[in-house]
Amino acid sequence: MFKNYSLKNYNSFRVNHKANFFLKIENNKSLINFLTDKKFKNEKKLIIGGGSNILFTKDYEGVILYSCIKGIHILEENDNHIKVKVGSGENWDNFVRLCVSKNWYGIENLSLIPGSVGAAPIQNIGAYGVEVKDYIYDVNGIDLKNNIKKTYSNKSCDFKYRDSVFKRELKNNFFVTEVTFILMKNKKFTLDYSELKNINSQNLTIQNVRDKIIEIRNLKLPDPKLLANAGSFFKNPIINIKVAKKIKEQYNHFKYYQINESMVKISAAWLIEKSGWKGHKEKNIGVYNKHALVLVNYSSENGKDIKILSKKIKESVLEKFDITLEKEVNIF
Ligand SMILES: Cc1cc2nc3c(=O)[nH]c(=O)nc-3n(C[C@H](O)[C@H](O)[C@H](O)COP(=O)(O)OP(=O)(O)OC[C@H]3O[C@@H](n4cnc5c(N)ncnc54)[C@H](O)[C@@H]3O)c2cc1C
Repeated sequence: MFKNYSLKNYNSFRVNHKANFFLKIENNKSLINFLTDKKFKNEKKLIIGGGSNILFTKDYEGVILYSCIKGIHILEENDNHIKVKVGSGENWDNFVRLCVSKNWYGIENLSLIPGSVGAAPIQNIGAYGVEVKDYIYDVNGIDLKNNIKKTYSNKSCDFKYRDSVFKRELKNNFFVTEVTFILMKNKKFTLDYSELKNINSQNLTIQNVRDKIIEIRNLKLPDPKLLANAGSFFKNPIINIKVAKKIKEQYNHFKYYQINESMVKISAAWLIEKSGWKGHKEKNIGVYNKHALVLVNYSSENGKDIKILSKKIKESVLEKFDITLEKEVNIF
């Protein structure tokens, strides 16, 4: 247990706030030992993985629990699928790389997403037409309220777009210890996403798909090791088709994607760009010049500045388009 511990190396915005206490959790036992220690019973608790979807805006007055639970175990395998249980502290992209090397199909479009395996179900990570929910069998963990081990089936995770039960009812009350994935043994790719449509599908391998995704991501998104950021700051809004059609009357190039009969998904990056923020710089923070959905931190030590900038962006999008942006990043 570390006291008064800097979080700078534990968040991809690289802001320099501190936690009163910081504890690395390596297995279920160390978590239960901590949870049953009376000294910490009344302390606030926050679970983190790689810190790549978090913005700290002040010091954390409580205990930060950092998952380091490792291990990848095959539970079941047949000609069609493989079931694998993975420790929440495993690096997400290392796991994707392993699946690709073994020809286990499903999550290759989620290559290069930063962070841990344990965080993947929290916001149902997604990219390039794939969401992790379609490959999660169940989520195992410990309920921080009663210290009881629990397994959530895929259905009871209640996954939605960048959302799950862990982000709502169970927010910060359920420590994910392992995630079980079910992956396909038969070749099947998701290539409907516009940037993947012109990929040569003849003799395509899973490694080719991973390479292409990595290439696209590297062109569009800043590497957090070189320029601090937390990926998309806001979710893509889902709005009524009538509202989208009105915008389209004014902006010919505006695109929307049908979700159901009445609702469409639109690009938050487009709204922000059209509101004039792309490439904006103020003090030592700003909006990435290649992707308006990504807020970047050049050198600020204080996450509050980024929160203030995100509020200004939200207000200006609301004023221009009458659309309320919802944050994707978790702010503490
Ligand atoms: C450059 C960049 C690109 C990105 N691209 C994408 C993308 O394409 N698609 C996408 O969906 N996301 C993307 N993200 C966001 C981020 O990578 C994901 O949300 C990722 O899953 C966060 O993992 P993490 O371990 O860093 O989680 P953290 O940031 O540490 O935590 C995120 C949330 O999960 C909770 N949490 C973490 N671990 C656990 C656990 N073991 N048990 C319970 N709760 C836990 C935390 O309390 C917090 O609420 C991107 C981020 C960056 C920086």
